[in-house]
Amino acid sequence: MLKRFFPSEYVDSIHEIDYDKLFKNGYRGIMFDVDNTLVPYDMEHPNDEIIDLFIKLKEIGFQVALVSNNNEVRITKFNEKLGVYAIHKALKPMTRNLKKAMQELKTNKKNTVLVGDQIFTDIYGGNRLKLKTILVVPISDKEEWITKIKRSTEKRIINAYLKKVKKDEAKN
Ligand SMILES: [Mg+2]
Repeated sequence: MLKRFFPSEYVDSIHEIDYDKLFKNGYRGIMFDVDNTLVPYDMEHPNDEIIDLFIKLKEIGFQVALVSNNNEVRITKFNEKLGVYAIHKALKPMTRNLKKAMQELKTNKKNTVLVGDQIFTDIYGGNRLKLKTILVVPISDKEEWITKIKRSTEKRIINAYLKKVKKDEAKN
């Protein structure tokens, strides 16, 4: 069963997501992965695009959190300019810290979106809680070796997912 690894949506980047539509559809919380979702691994601070996006999300009315498997130094530094609720060493796909973040944001499984670039940590973790999950194409190719190994398997799942989307579209 590959379905548990399928995202609800698959987009090129976080900037392609229709946040207004998400809000209109009742979503109130967004949990973002950091590395390769918001910025490349080696970018210490958010760039202007990210800062602007987070301002926009707050204006729309979203509660936003960072939920990363990376370490405290990385995430604390990255969050300096954003000042949102942030969890480091989140241990995704374990769900404990995703639940903790939702509790902090005062949102729930039904109105929270998880956005990330990795199927086996971000998407699988979100799916286990039945959250809406949005997969983005990873920003940088400069990745740790373990991620690179996982990527080839991820590609197979993405292909199966895209096939399914095509099939569903053909039905309508
Ligand atoms: Mg990532």
